[in-house]
Amino acid sequence: MKRIFTFFTVGIMLVACSRNAITGRNQLALYPESEIEQAAAQQYRQFLTQNKVVSTSASRDAEMVGGVGQRIASAITQYYTQKGLGNELNGYQWEYNLVDSKEVNAWCMPGGKIVVYTGLLPITQNEAALAVVVGHEVTHAVAKHGNERLSQGMLQQLGGVALSVALSNQPSTTQNLLMAAYGAGTEVGILLPFNRNQEYEADKFGLFYTAMAGYNPQEAIPLWQRMEAAANGQHPPEFLSTHPSEGNRIKRLQQLMPEALKYYKPVR
Ligand SMILES: [Zn+2]
Repeated sequence: MKRIFTFFTVGIMLVACSRNAITGRNQLALYPESEIEQAAAQQYRQFLTQNKVVSTSASRDAEMVGGVGQRIASAITQYYTQKGLGNELNGYQWEYNLVDSKEVNAWCMPGGKIVVYTGLLPITQNEAALAVVVGHEVTHAVAKHGNERLSQGMLQQLGGVALSVALSNQPSTTQNLLMAAYGAGTEVGILLPFNRNQEYEADKFGLFYTAMAGYNPQEAIPLWQRMEAAANGQHPPEFLSTHPSEGNRIKRLQQLMPEALKYYKPVR
């Protein structure tokens, strides 16, 4: 029986693997992006009603999160359009929210639904460093890491059934899997770290998008130094449990910096 299941699983994987046009890596994608974006939009609404959203009219920080999000989103949209891939982002309806929480974290759901926690801001300290984090998170979404992670999780836990079937038959398991796939799993008590390939892609393209959006990508180095220093403090960042650093992150970013700087045009 197990053998049959394995063949069946391999069959699905062969059918559902596709090459990512930006990263060049083959990825498992069992579900249409549009289906995941739709589920994500509902979960985002629910998350915002259950958490304390900081109003942009009352907070310069919330205004900054919105501004950074918009600039990153428009840089990515422009880049995808130039590459002839604009339709990949057709379903994106970008939203940016700052949520009042001590958690040192941020995430972006497929479809462009971004959350930054106030607990992250003492570590980012400035707008460009915040842009580095948002660029990293948005890359996880546009590089379809959510689909990849959800597909792997569904195969392991529910046998690769259709998303709609899973959502109606096992709603809480499926919703928790979705949250974990976006990197928002700490909300539901699941820590599912992005894997090494996904982290590398998010660091690399996130850095490029940050530069394209007019933020100095060199801010990434002191940012990650502050993040690593915080890991030894009293409240280690939740961010690092879902976005693991292998100690060579800063070295890799330094190697990518000359290319990132080619994209950098400061905004006046
Ligand atoms: Zn990451």
